[in-house]
Amino acid sequence: MELSQNLLHIIYLLASLSFILGLKMLSHPKTARNGNLIAGVGMTLAIFATIFLYHNAEGAPIGNLPLIFLGLIAGTVIGYVMAKRVKMTSMPQMVSFFNGMGGACAALISLNEFGKYTENNYVETLLNGHVLMILLGIMIGSVSFAGSMIAFGKLEGKIKDYVLPRQQLFNVLLLVIILGLGAYLMVQTEGKTGLLYIITLLSLLYGVLFVLPIGGADMPVVISLLNSFTGLAAAFGGFLYGNRAMLTGGILVGSAGTILTILMCQAMNRSLLNVLVGAFGGQSGQAAATSTEMGVIKEITLNDCAILCNYAQRVIVVPGYGLAVAQAQHITHEFESVLEERGVEVKYAIHPVAGRMPGHMNVLLAEADVAYDKLLEMEEANPLFKNTDVVLVIGANDVVNPAAKDDPTSPIYGMPILDVDESKTVVVLKRGMSAGYAGIENRLFFNDNTRMLFGDAKSSLEKLVKELKNI
Ligand code: NDP
Repeated sequence: MELSQNLLHIIYLLASLSFILGLKMLSHPKTARNGNLIAGVGMTLAIFATIFLYHNAEGAPIGNLPLIFLGLIAGTVIGYVMAKRVKMTSMPQMVSFFNGMGGACAALISLNEFGKYTENNYVETLLNGHVLMILLGIMIGSVSFAGSMIAFGKLEGKIKDYVLPRQQLFNVLLLVIILGLGAYLMVQTEGKTGLLYIITLLSLLYGVLFVLPIGGADMPVVISLLNSFTGLAAAFGGFLYGNRAMLTGGILVGSAGTILTILMCQAMNRSLLNVLVGAFGGQSGQAAATSTEMGVIKEITLNDCAILCNYAQRVIVVPGYGLAVAQAQHITHEFESVLEERGVEVKYAIHPVAGRMPGHMNVLLAEADVAYDKLLEMEEANPLFKNTDVVLVIGANDVVNPAAKDDPTSPIYGMPILDVDESKTVVVLKRGMSAGYAGIENRLFFNDNTRMLFGDAKSSLEKLVKELKNI
């Protein structure tokens, strides 16, 4: 048995290393696929090692094997089918759903473990921190589960933003009650299982009320925050079981989620508090018709646009959320190839928050086999715009809005943007004059050197490529 326990710990160590390596590799598109695979293999190893090698203090192995395998098979099949079917534009919903499942697991583990500590001497349980870990696992796991489900519903368009009168005050009060009940339960666990269920229910309610008022378009930031909560809750589970792989995995998810949340807020130049209590983005997509104050827009024909690109020396493509909606990544790559064959240098400028999730544009363009060295980060692209003949803005809006630089009243003021207006000509591909995520007007569209090419991005590009081939 000692041998199997040693082997188990070695496998946990290897699994932990695979999570760290996998996470590191996820930070670059070239290595991300393999990183995901390595971390997945590490997790599979950890699961099977636990099932077959773990023995409790009395030397008994894990029981209920048929049930465990039934759960594993059901989860694998459901996860596989969901991941295969999901559209790139629905990825944030799926991440939210999976994250919610993680939160629910952490809460259920804690609920299940509580029974083991109710009969012990409370001073002992208080001192060794087990009840505290159980409580934190339940509270954070429940908030993460309920919040993620609401975020999922909002992104699916099934749940509207909803603010109760005095909601902030009510939320704070609810949190104080949950913490108070938790503190009471910590010093007196015996016969308090009922109270634990009440804490669970109140935590679920808190999760719902926490996410319900947040603007639907702010959901990616909220999901990333909830993701860090789930990581923490899982880490508490790892502490309870003395399971190092679970502890490392939970801590990595918790810290990666927190860093991602901070980076997303920084890239939008907003504080986390502003995301959580501000209504920014709540009316995404419905606001801003053509503003008469901004002047008039100038349209361009497909033929003129094709000629402009064909005789350019350098063209930079700026992809945005609309490219993902239109699924125009493949035709964009074809457009790039046709131009490159004719000696035009084509690059892509990627804004860190273009689209609706971190790395959204990189993933889409990688799917279409666009070479990685063609992708420029914002800092690399900005100095190039003044020597660029044509910038093709495909379904992007906020990330190229000059109001971020020169309008202190704008909600996006201070957000770093792609300086496309410095190029000779900007061609914007979008369907109409609808606003983007921030729900605000964009002066770029009215500039002297901007031309609008209206229509669905995919169909406009298909026609553009045809025109190009005819030149
Ligand atoms: P935006 O949301 O600002 O704009 C997208 C534009 O695409 C719209 O104006 C829309 O105009 C157009 N569009 C939609 N569908 C199509 C289509 N089928 N064909 C052509 N155009 C289309 O996108 P950006 O990428 O510029 O900005 C992303 C925004 O999302 C930023 O404000 C960012 O802060 C926010 N955000 C990003 C996150 C991330 O992690 N990436 C997370 C949270 C928020 P029209 O309807 O007229 O066609």
